[in-house]
Amino acid sequence: MSPLLSILVALGLGAQQCLGSASLSDRVIQCLTTADVPQALPGTSEFDKSRSPHNLREQFTPLAVALPTTVSHVQAAVACGRKNGVKVNPRSGGHNYGSHGIGGEDGHLVVDLRFMNDVKVDNCTHIATVGPGAKLGNLALALDAQGKRSIPHGLCPKVGVGGHVLHGGWGYSTHNHGLFLDYLEEVQLVTANSSVVTASATKNPQLFWALRGAGMSFGIATRFKFRTLPQPEEIQLFYIPFIWNLTQAQAGWRAFQDYAASKARPKEMNFRVVISSGSFLGAEGTIFLFEGAYHGSRADYDRVIKPFRDAAIALGGYADMLQYPEVTAVNYMDSLLYANNNALLFGPAGAEPLESGFYKSMLTDKLSGPTVDALMTAVSNAGQTNPSRFWLWIVSAIGGPNSALTTMFPASSTSYSHRSSLLLWELGDTVGTTETYPSDVGIPWTNQFVDLVEKKEGKTLGMYYNYADPSIGDHGKAGRRYWPGNYDRLVALKRAWDGEGVFENPQTVGRR
Ligand SMILES: Cc1cc2nc3c(=O)[nH]c(=O)nc-3n(C[C@H](O)[C@H](O)[C@H](O)COP(=O)(O)OP(=O)(O)OC[C@H]3O[C@@H](n4cnc5c(N)ncnc54)[C@H](O)[C@@H]3O)c2cc1C
Repeated sequence: MSPLLSILVALGLGAQQCLGSASLSDRVIQCLTTADVPQALPGTSEFDKSRSPHNLREQFTPLAVALPTTVSHVQAAVACGRKNGVKVNPRSGGHNYGSHGIGGEDGHLVVDLRFMNDVKVDNCTHIATVGPGAKLGNLALALDAQGKRSIPHGLCPKVGVGGHVLHGGWGYSTHNHGLFLDYLEEVQLVTANSSVVTASATKNPQLFWALRGAGMSFGIATRFKFRTLPQPEEIQLFYIPFIWNLTQAQAGWRAFQDYAASKARPKEMNFRVVISSGSFLGAEGTIFLFEGAYHGSRADYDRVIKPFRDAAIALGGYADMLQYPEVTAVNYMDSLLYANNNALLFGPAGAEPLESGFYKSMLTDKLSGPTVDALMTAVSNAGQTNPSRFWLWIVSAIGGPNSALTTMFPASSTSYSHRSSLLLWELGDTVGTTETYPSDVGIPWTNQFVDLVEKKEGKTLGMYYNYADPSIGDHGKAGRRYWPGNYDRLVALKRAWDGEGVFENPQTVGRR
């Protein structure tokens, strides 16, 4: 037995001393102890680590925490939850904004997979076998060390592979190569009856379809196999900053979405805009920081960005906020590092901060003229309507005519429902980590922008489960937003694979 496992088992065995009242928590802990499943006991620092959320606003207390190091530990943990009628909740990196990795409510058995984090790349096939508890940063380092390989995925190194890949996973390689989930070849899953099944294109293909988009609803993924790509040779990381008044914002938004949706934007152009109040920089107006990663040479970058850059520069308002050149050529690994910590924007950054706030997403196409005008008016007034909190939107142009999301992968290939959308919006509104987020004010403030777009565009918009938003309701209500067009098929598969609802947080796929 490894020293780590010994400590964890010892922690679990210590549970017997806590028994007596035989509460539900005690019974689950006793069951895990009897099955030799390593666990973190309430009151220990390990327990606190396993229940700590990334979004400090969403704090919940599990009934028990299993810390498996093997698949059989996961099987036994699921059996303990099911036997005691307790919902079982996998946690990989704990970055879900609704804290769904710890259940999204009190009283779950959390199966914290942080010790199941191996990454091994096959020398011949370049297939990577990855544990769900690996973090994106560790994954990238391991792929680099084992053959200079890469997989398209998100930008934050502490996000867990498990939650990220099962629900999408976009980043600075998505426009040319697709989502993280598009590179899944095979998933090993512990199901509600504690069986271990393999899902792939040939084994349990319906389940494989469901896992790639709505994975948390069907079991605990204990191992992934991924296709990998050679690392791109050169990437241009760029930042084009503006502080715009209302007139500039309305024209600038049109230039952004026209370019994003045009055939002139090649697939290698990964592009987004970050929006916030100019007041955060002591300026009047709204910050529009256009940024991205172009996979190719500097000369090609200059040529392909020109239509957008010229149009934006012509509007005025170019902001003097960069400490480094507008464009920097980097290798692939540095592109991940710098894109995440924005060191090429503001200088070296510290550790990833926790957050406390509310996050919302929406998927849209190009907005119509009246919607652009109304939304930009609301955004330009945001400094007055929300003077005290820090709000920041990231609008990523992951779709479009040359995007791999549609050119490489058929819409029906996975349960991820948003391939045809041009823009993925993340709307964040936060306060300092020592402050209490005023949900009663902040949530409606953020929701109003999505309501405005929906009203003006005359449609209900899709949302991205990886930016989970508890305010949109439970199961079916949320599910039709997260998986529009695919929800009924997912419900049928949920009934087939988890009819008793062993794996449930408030927004998992429902059973009716
Ligand atoms: C700072 C930050 C940066 C981010 N950057 C990006 C980005 O660049 N691109 C992007 O697309 N998203 C991004 N996200 C969102 C991120 O992809 C999601 O929050 C993702 O779900 C986190 O995965 P996790 O494993 O860390 O989270 P967890 O909270 O552990 O899990 C999230 C959900 O997945 C389920 N789950 C976890 N592991 C498993 C498993 N093994 N089997 C079955 N279900 C499982 C959980 O139960 C939960 O419902 C970011 C989030 C944060 C906080």
